[in-house]
Amino acid sequence: MKLVLATRNRKKKEEIRRILALPESDLLSLDDFPDCPEVIEDGLTFLENADKKARTVAGFTGLTALADDSGLVVDGLDGAPGVHSARYAGEGASDAANVNRLLAELAARPDAPRTARFECVLSLSTPDGSCTRFTGTVEGRIADQPQGHNGFGYDPIFIPVGYDTSFALMDAASKDAMSHRGAALAALAKEIKNSSATKN
Ligand code: IMP
Repeated sequence: MKLVLATRNRKKKEEIRRILALPESDLLSLDDFPDCPEVIEDGLTFLENADKKARTVAGFTGLTALADDSGLVVDGLDGAPGVHSARYAGEGASDAANVNRLLAELAARPDAPRTARFECVLSLSTPDGSCTRFTGTVEGRIADQPQGHNGFGYDPIFIPVGYDTSFALMDAASKDAMSHRGAALAALAKEIKNSSATKN
C-alpha cells in the first residue's frame, strides 16, 4: 500500500518509515507533491489538526494519506506548548529556539511541576475524506538543560518516566519502543495487518 505522509518534516518521515518498516518507495511525503496546498494548523486539538492535514493531502493526491499531529504538553505551563509545539518560539522557529523558550518559561516558574508528556494523533484519510485515528502518549519530565543530539524537536529536554536521560541521548530503537509516535504507529500497523488479512 502506498501512503503519502502529510508532512515536510524529514525527521518525522524517517521515524515513521523506520517504525512501520516500509520500503522507501511505498512512503511518499509532501516533498513529492510540492504543489499541495499548505495546511493552516489552526485546530484546538492534535486530532483536529491531524484530520485536517490528512484530508487535505488525500483529497489533493488521490492517495491514502497519513498525518501525524504531535507535541509536548507541560503541566507547569498549563499544557503549553501543546498544539503550538512546532512554532512555540514563533513561526519558522528552530528546534533550539523552541527548547530555549520552554526552558525560559519554566525557569520563570520555579515552583511549577516539570512533568510533561508527548502526545501523538495519527489520522489516516482516504480521498473521500473519511478518517481513522490512532493515538499514543509517553509520560516524562523536562530536564534542566538540553542533553544529547539524537532525534529532533524537544527530544534533548524530555526524560521519559523510569529513565535518567533524555530521548536525545537514546538510540532510535529505544525511543521508538516507548515513544508516543511508536505507540500510535504500532496501533496503525496492527490495523493495516488486520485489514490486509481480511482482504486475503
Ligand atoms: P507538528 O508537525 O505540527 O505535528 O509539530 C510537532 C512538533 O512537536 C515538532 O515540531 C516538535 O517540536 C514536537 N514533537 C513532536 N514529536 C516529537 C518527538 O518525538 N520528539 C521531539 N519533539 C517532538
